[in-house]
Amino acid sequence: MDLISVRAVRVPRSRGELTFAPGAVPLAGGTWLYSERQDDVTELVDLTGLGWEPWTADPDGGLTVSATCTLAELVRIPARPEWPALSLIPLCVNSLLASFKIWNTATIGGNIALALPAGGLTSLATALDAVAELWTVDSERRIPVADLVLGVRRTAIEHGEVLRALHFPAAALAGRAAFRRIALSPLGRAGTVVIGRRDADDAVTLSLTGGTERPEVLRFAGIPTVAQLAAAIDGIDTWYDDAHGSPDWREAMSRRFAEEIRRELS
Ligand SMILES: Cc1cc2nc3c(=O)[nH]c(=O)nc-3n(C[C@H](O)[C@H](O)[C@H](O)COP(=O)(O)OP(=O)(O)OC[C@H]3O[C@@H](n4cnc5c(N)ncnc54)[C@H](O)[C@@H]3O)c2cc1C
Repeated sequence: MDLISVRAVRVPRSRGELTFAPGAVPLAGGTWLYSERQDDVTELVDLTGLGWEPWTADPDGGLTVSATCTLAELVRIPARPEWPALSLIPLCVNSLLASFKIWNTATIGGNIALALPAGGLTSLATALDAVAELWTVDSERRIPVADLVLGVRRTAIEHGEVLRALHFPAAALAGRAAFRRIALSPLGRAGTVVIGRRDADDAVTLSLTGGTERPEVLRFAGIPTVAQLAAAIDGIDTWYDDAHGSPDWREAMSRRFAEEIRRELS
């Protein structure tokens, strides 16, 4: 779509050029930005010219994925025995309603920054305790993705900040993962995505996305009982309502999947 309010598209080549005037927004794959009117946007700051490596294996055994890593690059990260939870990547990428055009240009950073409940990469990042690295031109901070996404199209990213990278800790990548997703139609937008992870120390993490307005992460020191799990889900009050599912259906499916995952990880 033509963005008729946009007066300039800038392609920074270094961090020092990552400046944002009022009305300027980061441009990544552009698959959402160019898909609808953006009346308040006057400048696009194209992050893809910064040349960030799509991903790097960290010396501490973790994985750093640049915000500009595309979905296609993400699914090509080679499997490693010490990262069994990487099996979640294709499941989460395919959980997006993605055409081949989106697959090759959409980025992990754009998906998380957009903060749609059906953000499959938000599902991945919250399930694996990923921490977001945010940059301004001269400062940086880190925040767990579970705390970065605040609600539907709402994040803790401030104007002038960009999501630089996602840090996936080694302990989470080493966990055993279980995945469930449902949509109202076979190729429909996710109604709920529930992901469980059991770590080497037996701690269990359950992330609920798609069915809730923001990521909900439940943590247990070990495998929870049926009652403990149900009680934890009782505490969720952000069940999402849109054309892709009613809140009561989303809650019912999420409860069912969480219990299935509890048994699978037991
Ligand atoms: C047919 C179709 C189906 C879709 N299905 C889904 C779906 O099922 N689930 C879903 O979540 N999305 C969906 N989308 C929306 C979109 O394609 C994806 O969310 C995609 O991952 C966005 O990534 P992008 O790199 O193209 O982001 P862009 O379109 O470039 O940017 C998206 C937003 O994030 C901001 N942004 C981008 N990168 C950064 C950064 N590094 N730091 C800070 N802000 C940043 C931009 O300013 C913009 O506000 C769909 C879109 C289409 C057209």
